[in-house]
Amino acid sequence: TTKQLIMSEKLAAIGEITAGVAHEINNPVAVLQGNLDVMCSLLGEHADIAKTEIRLMDEQVSRINQIVTKLLQFAKPEEYAGFVERHDAGAVIGDCLPLVQHLLNRAAIEVKLTHTSTRFVVMNRTELQQVLVNLIVNAIHAMPNGGILTLMDQDMARDGEPGILITVADTGTGMTPDVMERIFDPFFTTKRREGTGLGLSISKTLIDRQGGSFDVQSTPEQGTTFHIWLPEAN
Ligand code: ADP
Repeated sequence: TTKQLIMSEKLAAIGEITAGVAHEINNPVAVLQGNLDVMCSLLGEHADIAKTEIRLMDEQVSRINQIVTKLLQFAKPEEYAGFVERHDAGAVIGDCLPLVQHLLNRAAIEVKLTHTSTRFVVMNRTELQQVLVNLIVNAIHAMPNGGILTLMDQDMARDGEPGILITVADTGTGMTPDVMERIFDPFFTTKRREGTGLGLSISKTLIDRQGGSFDVQSTPEQGTTFHIWLPEAN
């Protein structure tokens, strides 16, 4: 559709501009971070207040780092993607859980894991993990008062083509139709401080690139379900 065309052009343009800018930001940020570490170790043990300030600065520098890394992954995927491999999606999902365990505990979220897929998919493992962690973290953010996180992988054909379907579903806040319309726009976020608005736009780009598809269903106050379909490895 025209809207998708405009979107992919927008993404390509953002990619070109940000690759240059992000590279330039990397070096001064690394210097800042190094100096903050040195300053902290130079302070005497009584300088607690200064240490708090420095820790705050360090957090913000880390945040800049995180945004720049995401931008680079997105703008120069070929440099970051490395090679693609055959994967058992269930194993990749399993590997994501330890990364988010602290968030799951904090929000009292129950995880329902169902692994039935038997087919292999082709994708860069880090990228697939990045996509899944993005979806899982979003699901957790949507359930501040707890809930159920469903993670599922199963064999499924799309238009006769064999592949697998990965489901990430939450029983959280859900989304209104106007939010849902914008979630794949780069930089669209409803999270004021923690959000970069890059998670879903990057995730969708990575899945599309492997010939897969991404779709979402959501009901306000009830929850959200993301489906990722990936073709079977040859
Ligand atoms: P970020 O998480 O940094 O805001 P994303 O691109 O990952 O960026 O998500 C964009 C927006 O989509 C979020 O700010 C949120 O409003 C919405 N969203 C994504 N996942 C969910 C979810 N599981 N439940 C409710 N809203 C969601």
